[in-house]
Amino acid sequence: MKLAVLPGDGIGKEIVAQAVKVLDVLKKDGASIEMEYANIGGAGYDAEGDPLPETTLKLSKAADAVLLGAVGGPQYDKLDRPLRPERGLLRIRKELNLFANLRPALLYPELAAASSLKPEVVAGLDIMIVRELTGDVYFGQPRGIEIRNGERVGFNTMIYSESEVRRVAHVAFGIAMKRGKRLCSVEKANVLECSELWRDVVAEVAKEYPEVELSTLYVDNAAMQLVKNPKQFDVIVTGNIFGDILSDQASMLSGSIGMLPSASLDANNKGMYEPIHGSAPDIAGRDIANPLATILSVAMMYRYTFADAVTADRIEAAVKKVIAQGYRTGDIWTEGCTKVSCTGMGDAVVAAM
Ligand code: NAD
Repeated sequence: MKLAVLPGDGIGKEIVAQAVKVLDVLKKDGASIEMEYANIGGAGYDAEGDPLPETTLKLSKAADAVLLGAVGGPQYDKLDRPLRPERGLLRIRKELNLFANLRPALLYPELAAASSLKPEVVAGLDIMIVRELTGDVYFGQPRGIEIRNGERVGFNTMIYSESEVRRVAHVAFGIAMKRGKRLCSVEKANVLECSELWRDVVAEVAKEYPEVELSTLYVDNAAMQLVKNPKQFDVIVTGNIFGDILSDQASMLSGSIGMLPSASLDANNKGMYEPIHGSAPDIAGRDIANPLATILSVAMMYRYTFADAVTADRIEAAVKKVIAQGYRTGDIWTEGCTKVSCTGMGDAVVAAM
């Protein structure tokens, strides 16, 4: 299996190093994995003048899967937009046609105290958010800032074709079939035509999955329900911008953004795997970041791209074990637990494996 490893910026290098230690264990146990590193984001700009250098794109296209750390940093905020790190990320998702972003929000019972909600509201939480990733207002044309009637106006275009909605709906229904068979489609059909189409197409696809109970919510209500009674959800499917916001919100239900992995899949289950958090410049270089989201991203890679549930279960069990043993990085630490560094957490997972 060929894996493109793109650590990126900030804590990216630190957390990816821990995930690679997990891959090294699997290699020692006989897995055939070839890893090749490349630059992305600010690292791509610094080394090759482009947040998605041609060599990185070529390597990623040739690989079976991509493991990404994070991109971005304040030193890049004044660059021309196409040169900014985040544009590299948007481009690689688009170039690899990674249209379905899977973000689990799962609460380990031992971390219930780290959630900002009452333990009884979040205990046992297990949601999968399926976010469309290559369309919507993030990519729609026209977009820009220009002068109209003597003042600056900024504009973007929210747009979805029915084929884009249909393919992500199929992914979401497929996942719901393997879980609790409940799917909630989130949009804003009371105001947006784009959402009206989304709702109609999802309802059409639902006819092919009669076992799945489909519900719909407006995004504002969904945001409210996610903090009021999050356990009502099994699988949520939504567009790019709504999914961006709701999945970050859901991540806080589970205590820390440092715990949550993600998968972005194309039509053949080739995927890019990355933690949902960013490059955390505020803690970069201090070996204190939580590497578990990245390690759990490797588990997702085994589950979805390599179709190897046994290895995925093994990695997830090792993470559960270190949590049960009381090891915590600073972001999830509570009184009585053992505080470990990023490297220390990686070592603990390797030992548990
Ligand atoms: P962020 O996710 O980097 O950080 C938000 C907060 O969470 C910070 O306080 C950070 O210290 C903390 N945090 C994040 N990951 C953590 C971890 N693994 N362990 C412990 N604490 C963690 O979001 P931000 O601060 O809004 O953005 C920082 C940079 O990252 C920006 O340049 C932004 O554009 C970029 N970004 C990149 C991605 C990505 O690469 N996928 C996603 C979001 C933001």
